[in-house]
Amino acid sequence: MLPLAEVRALVLERCPALEPEPVEARYARGHVLAADIVVSADVPAFASSGMDGFAVRTVDVATAATDIPVVLDVVDSVNAGRASTRTVGPRQAIRIMTGAPVPDGADAIVPVEMTRHSGGERGSGETVAILRPSAQGQHVRPAGDDVVAGTTVIEAGTHIDVALLGVLVAVGCHMVSVVPRPRVGVISTGDELVAAPRGLDAGQIRDSNRPMLLGAVSAAGARAIDLGWVGDDVDALAAALRAAATRCDLVLTSGGVSMGEADVVKLVLDRMTDPHWLQVAIRPAKPFALATVAGVPLLGLPGNPVSALVSFELLARPAIRHMAGHSTLDRVVVTALAGPDLTRRPDGKVHYVRVTFERDADGALVAVPIRAQGSHQLVATAAAVGLAVVPDGDGAPEGTPVEVIVLDTAAALRA
Ligand code: AMP
Ligand code: MG
Repeated sequence: MLPLAEVRALVLERCPALEPEPVEARYARGHVLAADIVVSADVPAFASSGMDGFAVRTVDVATAATDIPVVLDVVDSVNAGRASTRTVGPRQAIRIMTGAPVPDGADAIVPVEMTRHSGGERGSGETVAILRPSAQGQHVRPAGDDVVAGTTVIEAGTHIDVALLGVLVAVGCHMVSVVPRPRVGVISTGDELVAAPRGLDAGQIRDSNRPMLLGAVSAAGARAIDLGWVGDDVDALAAALRAAATRCDLVLTSGGVSMGEADVVKLVLDRMTDPHWLQVAIRPAKPFALATVAGVPLLGLPGNPVSALVSFELLARPAIRHMAGHSTLDRVVVTALAGPDLTRRPDGKVHYVRVTFERDADGALVAVPIRAQGSHQLVATAAAVGLAVVPDGDGAPEGTPVEVIVLDTAAALRA
């Protein structure tokens, strides 16, 4: 048996980051940036008004008060999207709307609420009464207030989320270099599997791994490709894998990697390529295969649904994130107090026990194993929000600290 860390290193070596490609910034969400984004011009590019009101010179309004207002001539009116051609001179003001460029000569904006119409009509001898003095720069958003030219706003390796998508566009990026989202194919194997919505004959089970793994691939940020199901037929699987290699960056199989004589993945990979048959020192999900088919990496996950999920979580998900260029490959790990039943017998393996979280009377987080831990017991497993990492040995007595890989962060935070 090999320690998980060693197997993981082999997997990551076989699954390097994909070659960067240009995409339109507005479609960059979900990708990892391949190059730093350096801002070429100040954002915003000009000083603008933060309020609807009047652009003034602070020296003119220094004595303004409600009972003795300062009266200014309104020489222009400017909306967002247009710049005034006028300069604010002594005892003059320009009416200004939020987002409009601050006119030359003005050094503050007096909000409309601090003014009163004083005389004339708009465009002919209009005057405004200013009721309060103003500090220099008041309600003015200076140029470069968000970011100044030359700043690196987003570093290579950053995952583009919703706000960063806005940033890319705001700083004038049209095309950006990103790591493509890997295309990850999922194929199920086994004569016993039924994918169609029909009754089961004797000995048949439903192909639950494929939709689960496809969902897990999407949730990991990659593009999931459904490669269907093949029976325990060497030629059919070989043909399916060759076809998969033409349209996937990574292929995941489930089932057929143990020692049984119908373990077709094993038979086919041995025939087609030079696979590693790995016994990972973990429970569940000990059997695992790593191969390259027609230049495309393949991870052979075990068939038992719970094992397939744990294998995906510990090996396939980091591989997918590595290919997608992420700098962090792993989930958040928290330390919780062991609930009951986290003790074990030594067997040379690290146990990944499916747990939920609770709070004890003192408010401490407690990892409580779900009721059934069999690697075929998917219904019980679905309740788990974390994997408690129980190293080889006698396990974690109740109340002692245990590390938990958090699968569902929202559920963990609600605990
Ligand atoms: P295998 O490694 O192919 O012997 O599979 C181990 C166990 O997982 C067997 O009980 C299979 O029936 C089951 N299994 C394999 N593939 C799937 C699948 N796609 N969905 C649900 N169960 C599966
Ligand atoms: Mg099988």
